[in-house]
Amino acid sequence: MTKRIALLGSTGSIGQQTLDVVADHPSDFEIVSLAAGGRGALMAEQVVRFKPRHICLSQESSLKELQDRLEAAQLDYKPTFHIGASGLVELASDPEADVVVVATSGQHGFAPTLAALKTGKEVALANKEVLVMAGEMVTEAARQAHTQLRPIDSEHSAIWQSLWGESRVSSEGEENWGVENPKVRRLILTASGGPFRSFTKEQMRDVTVEQAMKHPNWDMGPKITIDSATLFNKGLEVIEAHWLFGLPYDKVDVVVHRESIIHSMVEFVDGSIKAQLGTPNMRVPIQCAIGYPERLENNYPRLDFTTLRELHFEMPDLERFPALRLAYEAGRKGGTYPTVLAAADEEAVSFFHQRRISYLGISELVERVLNRHDVIAHPSLEDIAATDAWARQTAEEIASHELALR
Ligand code: MG
Repeated sequence: MTKRIALLGSTGSIGQQTLDVVADHPSDFEIVSLAAGGRGALMAEQVVRFKPRHICLSQESSLKELQDRLEAAQLDYKPTFHIGASGLVELASDPEADVVVVATSGQHGFAPTLAALKTGKEVALANKEVLVMAGEMVTEAARQAHTQLRPIDSEHSAIWQSLWGESRVSSEGEENWGVENPKVRRLILTASGGPFRSFTKEQMRDVTVEQAMKHPNWDMGPKITIDSATLFNKGLEVIEAHWLFGLPYDKVDVVVHRESIIHSMVEFVDGSIKAQLGTPNMRVPIQCAIGYPERLENNYPRLDFTTLRELHFEMPDLERFPALRLAYEAGRKGGTYPTVLAAADEEAVSFFHQRRISYLGISELVERVLNRHDVIAHPSLEDIAATDAWARQTAEEIASHELALR
């Protein structure tokens, strides 16, 4: 059966790789809709190539531009156009889509994720903020709709794959591979440690944007690459894992594993540990998320044990990487704290890219914003949006007045 896919965020790194997976498996997947927030020329190429029935763009102006490009291409093809946040929700709830891939960034993912879950669709989730900021609401919506959130993040995909066959199946035949699985002792998320894994705090003082953008193993976008260097990315993933697999923070551990060959592990109550290994390639977790329950063939690079000599492990140093400590603290405190963590970090990373604050200033800034927050215990979407705006505003003030580079 061909799965019909709505891809939200098609021009980002995950979006583009999702289209690679679809192109590599033409009889398994079909693109029914594409949504993008920018990169008009790339979007036009994707539209011409995949001819989605529905197209959503963030702004009227980019829509005009795309329509002109399509007209110039003289195709015999008439898609339906949608605009902005309401357009994303229309695509996510379209009955012609079986799977919704949420690869948008930030808050843009909330409403379409909830809409897709409400209409009982499978959701393949690449947008971390959806679970970090609205984890309670989104996992509850999935439960009520009797549908699944499928992780695209490589670590969570590894955990998910390690749980296949370990799930409890309810009397209605529903799989419960995560939530409160009594056989799981702990989840072990692996972290590459990024380019500054062995740097002293002193050496970190002078880190440049160019250095931070050189990730040793993964090729990713500008936000997540910096987050991988600071370990904020791992911190967000700890919170993501907490919600996705329904386990308390005490049962979510992080180990630094610089080769990124083991993508994450699950330890069970009998001491057995299951891991998922492979060469770092985001197309594999994407393929798992949209192809489940099938394991589909591909010709991506294989793990070669004739050249692989060693795998290294070390415990993360929370003193040199305070981001991970901040994430655990925010996660445990709960409520709107993780929203503040994610929003302040996003601002901090962009200030770092703009050379407004230093590399070490990223964690410092986030900690200062967290310290000023008055928590809301069970936030609504409006509370989350308001907290997000507050955190960004506060981050801006701190960056300008307290941590500005001169
Ligand atoms: Mg990851």
